Amino acid sequence: MVLGAVTAVSEWRDLCTGFVQRWPEAYLEIDADGVVAEWNPRAEVLFGWRRADVVGRLAVETILPEPLAVEHLGVTDSPEDSPGPPHVDVRHSAGHVVATEGSLFATREGPDSVIRGFLRPVSAGSGDGLFRKAARTQVDELTGLPNRAQFESRLIDLMSADECTSGTVAVVLLDLDRFKAINSSLGHDLGDRVLAFVADRLRGVGEDVTLLARSGGDEFLACFRGSGGVAEERASAFAERARAALAEPLDIGATEIFLDASVGVALNTFGVTDAGRLLSNAESAMYEAKGNGAGVETFGESMRIELMDRMTTEHSLHRALERRELKLHYQPVVEIAGSTTIGVEALIRWQHPDQGLVAPYRFIPVAEESGLIIPIGAWVLEQACQQLRDWNGRAANGLQGSVEVNLSARQIDDPRIIATVEEILARTGLPPCYLTLEITESALMQDAAAALDVLRALKELGVLLAIDDFGTGYSSLSYLQHFPLDLLKVDRSFVETLGVSTEGEQIVGAVIDLAHALGLQVVAEGVENTDQLEVLRSFGCDLAQGFLFARPLPAEEILSSFGLPISA
Ligand code: C2E
Ligand code: CA
Ligand code: CA
Repeated sequence: MVLGAVTAVSEWRDLCTGFVQRWPEAYLEIDADGVVAEWNPRAEVLFGWRRADVVGRLAVETILPEPLAVEHLGVTDSPEDSPGPPHVDVRHSAGHVVATEGSLFATREGPDSVIRGFLRPVSAGSGDGLFRKAARTQVDELTGLPNRAQFESRLIDLMSADECTSGTVAVVLLDLDRFKAINSSLGHDLGDRVLAFVADRLRGVGEDVTLLARSGGDEFLACFRGSGGVAEERASAFAERARAALAEPLDIGATEIFLDASVGVALNTFGVTDAGRLLSNAESAMYEAKGNGAGVETFGESMRIELMDRMTTEHSLHRALERRELKLHYQPVVEIAGSTTIGVEALIRWQHPDQGLVAPYRFIPVAEESGLIIPIGAWVLEQACQQLRDWNGRAANGLQGSVEVNLSARQIDDPRIIATVEEILARTGLPPCYLTLEITESALMQDAAAALDVLRALKELGVLLAIDDFGTGYSSLSYLQHFPLDLLKVDRSFVETLGVSTEGEQIVGAVIDLAHALGLQVVAEGVENTDQLEVLRSFGCDLAQGFLFARPLPAEEILSSFGLPISA
């Protein structure tokens, strides 16, 4: 694949950030140390590895059976010049090796060479003859079903002009829930047997299926045809039968396993004419089903509008950074005992040219999904550190207050996070002890072991660490005591119960005691009235934040309402 006239590395990078997430081919990026820096949703589907399991780890420990030699790719300043390797073997998460062809380039970034590009599993007949000898069979060995490559080529035929006249094509993508847990608790051999059983059960309920295939990992694909809504009916009925069949306990050796699956259905309506788009719509529907627990979702007009909406947001968010449309507001953090402001939390806002001030819930998820949160997050950090440095520099008696900055899970996953924080502290001259990084409980627990390493490294820089929105996720207490945390922020939903429900109060009291036992200071979020404050005071809660004291305000207003915001 040739990527048009991309000449500069920076242009290439900009082009990639958003697109790779939705690109219908697997995208891989490996930094100079051999660590995986990017891995898109398509790569997850094709090779089984979840992004969180590979990004930040050595490629040879996960996806590559052998290191990729930069010399073989040829280092260029322009991706266009690189010939790319004939093929690359990728290790699937299930253990087998998948031969791929594609376009990997090594590009120079400063003194280092970064490898990045796209990968396609090799299928017989693909390529221009050069790749033919690397082509592998079209049948999945484990299940005996056609593999993804065959499914795709058949789907292209079905959607071609001659065949398509006979009606609608519906694609069903079925992804097992929690299969990774089954695989790691039972071992790969039993995991493989489970997949073979699943294939049998799907065959058993697929009487009217046009094509059934294993997509890779724990994903299966089915395709149906029919006119006048028949394809959709068949696909939906198959999805329900498949889930019911999988819910029957599986007897494997001494263990009984209960399976569940999330299913996405997509149709070649709404002007969808290419197979790649149809598959990625089925994927979006499947993720929607997984996210909302509905079991089955059909990609429809509302999902299409939502996707378009997200893409528009993503597109304008790209330019928001350049056009300086992003702003920070600051909310005071108050010490309950002395009623003094000891710091501020930085909260992002988007001053949209048409929509006015946009709240973070409307764009942070898009920024996270597209990867834009990396440059945006770095901007927030730098802006907040610089602001605090300025305020503290003006305080009569030297440095006084601290700033709390929110980090997303995506930033914690970023292999460059430690260097980014270190560089920003050095550039702004803010002593690290005046910076608190907040990470939500659910982000920490997504991959607790990996987060632990990152937190330890951040802690070594001298910054403080807070667990945010505590109580909304599921924390393993054994983990909590290992994290090098300084602060615990009790979520607003718990603070709301104070003075209203005894049970709620008991929970808040217990959380405060627990945090103190672990040596953490406690911040109560969203304190709106004095009743809540008094209960918190009686529980010995250390700090509070909320509309009772101040709403988040622009830097200039915080300054005028609090004098120098931070006073001793
Ligand atoms: P958060 O970190 O839990 O921030 C606290 C949120 O509660 C803020 O919403 C704040 O305006 C709101 N809040 C504070 N006091 C009260 C109160 O007394 N009552 C009520 N009802 N609300 C109160 P905001 O600014 O809309 O931010 C929402 C979320 O967006 C934040 O939740 C945080 O998760 C995320 N966010 C904000 N800025 C950033 C950022 O720079 N980076 C990242 N990754 N996430 C950010
Ligand atoms: Ca926060
Ligand atoms: Ca919070």
